[in-house]
Amino acid sequence: MKERVGFVGMGIMGVRMAANILKAGYPLTAWNRDRKKCGPLEAAGADIASTLAELAESSDVVIMMVTGPEAVDHILNSEGGLLSASMTGKCLVNMSTVPPHFSREWAARLRVLDVDFVDAPVSGSKKPAEDGTLVILAGGSEPTVSRLEPLFLSMGKKVVRCGEAGNGSAMKLTVNLLLATMMEGLCEAVNLGRKCGLKTELILDTILSGPMACDYFNMKAEMLRRDEYPPQFPFKHMTKDLRFILETAENCDASVPLARDTLAMFEAGLATGLSDMDFAAVMKVVETGRK
Ligand code: NAP
Repeated sequence: MKERVGFVGMGIMGVRMAANILKAGYPLTAWNRDRKKCGPLEAAGADIASTLAELAESSDVVIMMVTGPEAVDHILNSEGGLLSASMTGKCLVNMSTVPPHFSREWAARLRVLDVDFVDAPVSGSKKPAEDGTLVILAGGSEPTVSRLEPLFLSMGKKVVRCGEAGNGSAMKLTVNLLLATMMEGLCEAVNLGRKCGLKTELILDTILSGPMACDYFNMKAEMLRRDEYPPQFPFKHMTKDLRFILETAENCDASVPLARDTLAMFEAGLATGLSDMDFAAVMKVVETGRK
């Protein structure tokens, strides 16, 4: 008999990940702050909980995939939140991107309540979420991660065992530092080429014909060609992650000068209304000539 899964957060990622859990045959109950976004899952056969407490009561494993720490705190602690029901003996998985210290603090608080906590953020965006090919970065006790592995593999192609709770979040920020700076670098390179009089298509074709060709650049190059940035990974979320990266780097004394400059570009973009576009729209900040 498969575990009963509760899924909180029907955003770009959550609705697709929950749909794959349901497809894999897990009984699933969903909840979202804006209930309308539960429509597709309800149509696919999921139960929709009216409250978070109701979702907690009808689940063995509860997964959260929401914006970040503020949303997670609210879901757990608010009146009628998950912890207003008894979660004792259950497993709570946070797949949202948050700082490692935040995951560690929650792991410790939940241990006292006999709730098994795993942080399991994901590498991969909207399409891998839809295709069930995410890479799941799990931090938590070995037996719990092993128990959750089949569930994780309904959403992803690989589970990376990162160690104790908090390490999943650390791995996620490690990956996103590279993701953000690579994107910013691609935009700067394209912009330099254009300023020298080269055509965008020729620049992209040159980069993508050489050793730097990769799925990631291929996907983002299409956005640069069209100058259209429909959100796969929203600009506001990458900005949030860059803030977490700087905070975390400071806590562990890591040097991240590129991340610092890249965050400044993203903060500038947020101030000019790029919030809900894909984060590749950092091209627009580069084009406006920020030094
Ligand atoms: P999204 O589309 O913006 O969805 C955010 C979700 O969080 C929505 O369900 C929203 O509910 C919920 N939420 C926000 N504040 C809340 C609160 N105070 N209480 C309850 N619910 C709240 O985000 P997403 O793109 O799916 O990303 C989700 C997480 O995955 C983020 O941590 C992001 O950094 C990470 N991530 C995203 C991607 C990507 O490519 N998109 C890739 C990897 C990781 P409402 O619908 O009611 O607003």
